[in-house]
Amino acid sequence: MMPLRVLVISESTGPPLGADISVSNYAPEDISRISSLGNFSAAVLAGDDPATLMALRAKEEWIASPIFALDPALAEHPLSDGPLPQDFKAFLEVVEDRSRKISSDLEYTVDTAILTYLWKIETRRLAASLQLRHSHLYEYVQLTAFGVTNAPKWLAEAEDRGWIARDSVIDRTRNCGDCGGAHLNYVDRCPFCEALDISAEQAIHCFTCGLVEEEGSFNRGQRMVCPKCQTALKHIGTDYDRPIERYRCRDCGERFNDGKVKATCLECGSINAQSDLLTRTYRSYCIGPAGESLLRLGRSPDAAVQPFGEAVGRQQFLWTLNWLNEIAHGPGRSASVVKIVCRGLPFEHDEGQRTVLALRSQIGALLSPTDVLLHYDPETMLLLLPSDGLDRLQGLVKDLEGISASKLSGEFVLEIDSVLLPLPEIATNAMQWLAQFAEERKCV
Ligand SMILES: [Zn+2]
Ligand SMILES: [Zn+2]
Ligand SMILES: [Zn+2]
Repeated sequence: MMPLRVLVISESTGPPLGADISVSNYAPEDISRISSLGNFSAAVLAGDDPATLMALRAKEEWIASPIFALDPALAEHPLSDGPLPQDFKAFLEVVEDRSRKISSDLEYTVDTAILTYLWKIETRRLAASLQLRHSHLYEYVQLTAFGVTNAPKWLAEAEDRGWIARDSVIDRTRNCGDCGGAHLNYVDRCPFCEALDISAEQAIHCFTCGLVEEEGSFNRGQRMVCPKCQTALKHIGTDYDRPIERYRCRDCGERFNDGKVKATCLECGSINAQSDLLTRTYRSYCIGPAGESLLRLGRSPDAAVQPFGEAVGRQQFLWTLNWLNEIAHGPGRSASVVKIVCRGLPFEHDEGQRTVLALRSQIGALLSPTDVLLHYDPETMLLLLPSDGLDRLQGLVKDLEGISASKLSGEFVLEIDSVLLPLPEIATNAMQWLAQFAEERKCV
């Protein structure tokens, strides 16, 4: 077995790591200078600067490699693999062993890099971490560091494809309905005018003239006298009573029993009723079965053939597309392909995810058992309608427009595009045609 080589990043001589481990020492400033820092089994950071860790992780060959930190605070960083493991050598051998199971055919992309990251160390998770300065309070720091620009969408797609699987719920936040910010201040306000200037106040209601005023204004020494009609109030229930409203607004003068709790957004200033707040659930994720297969095979596994009515995998969809294109004949009987793009789907909050599921099931309900459905990406569905050509197509498009017009909540837009088979381009290169058709942002 090759000796394990470990990169130590330290201002001075690094710590001893054991007899069978060969150590190369670099100063932190060397990291940006050296273009390739490959062929190491792991790195050990002696300092406490997160910038060093981030600079190292940003290098393609280090995205998935083990990086440990001696400084306890840096070891807690989401991009660190923690403190040095007890049995360092045994730990690294397990990692090397897992690395060897990754196919040499695997193409490097952001997606495969993230999956490799999750695979190499079994305990690794993609997890949201608390970032107090972040407007959403939580951030998937690893995804951001690996170059993912829209984390909620990436997670939705990766989960859809089985690349990743849910591990545990880290936290749930309530977010401003206007800007999505999670820095909210919950306060009692006047239910009539929303003013903040409300105070608890015991009032007296004079039965003779009907005046309702704060108790203090009735006090005359030891007695109680109505300041308006001058009646002496002696017996509660006969002369006067105490209204149940315990608060008064100094702005509008109204009395009320309980203030209304509203959440002021500290980001944009919006005053949200509690029912207008959105919810976000933050989770940790581990590698999923399809992610593992992708790494081992170097490509997406041929999805198991799905029963009619279930969404199929890409390979099955392509095969069916090719086949239908071959046998398509006559405009009245031929097959068609439909693209449904739902733009602006709100993946980031729980309400949005429920909308996505509701939309998918509404669209699913329109399909006949022989139609073939592919979730191309979280926003795009592709449909193969095997028969009845234009009639079936027009009927479906009309039904889809019905969904689009209905109040499914959210501000998304449904775009529909369709073509009738056969098409010569499909016969030439079905995969290329499908990618073009799916990515084209044109609607009918
Ligand atoms: Zn806001
Ligand atoms: Zn008021
Ligand atoms: Zn009175």
